[in-house]
Amino acid sequence: MRLLLDAMCGGLRAYLRLCGHDTAFVLDHGVEADDETAALANEENRTVVTRDRDLAAATDGILLHERDPRAQLRELAAASVDLTPTDDPERCGRCNGRLDRVPETGSTREYAPDPAETPVWRCRDCEQCFWKGSLYDRMVETLARIRDSAA
Ligand SMILES: [Zn+2]
Repeated sequence: MRLLLDAMCGGLRAYLRLCGHDTAFVLDHGVEADDETAALANEENRTVVTRDRDLAAATDGILLHERDPRAQLRELAAASVDLTPTDDPERCGRCNGRLDRVPETGSTREYAPDPAETPVWRCRDCEQCFWKGSLYDRMVETLARIRDSAA
């Protein structure tokens, strides 16, 4: 899905991007007002995810009630948003850029593992590196629990 998160839903970014959803965040675009959010969603053909009833109604978006990101994820699952992580990471959790697999002989940032030993992906836009480490595992587990409880 192509999504646009309002300022109250930013905690969902990394989870939704892990599931391959093209997920923009209003504050990354310097947008906060409802009319600007609606215009951006329209321009980029995105579904608004918001805790603002009026904005959700005006944009035919997804209305969330919870504040906690995990509780918000349960609401998204109930709204039929697919929360299955993609086999290969596709979207940068930090900036939503596309990820490319780093070749085994390629170089990565110092903080990342050796791509000859561990698959590493790099963001085309911000160059952040990602791999399936303990943080990834925890997020995948969280998503699995939410899908189970929604099923
Ligand atoms: Zn990035």
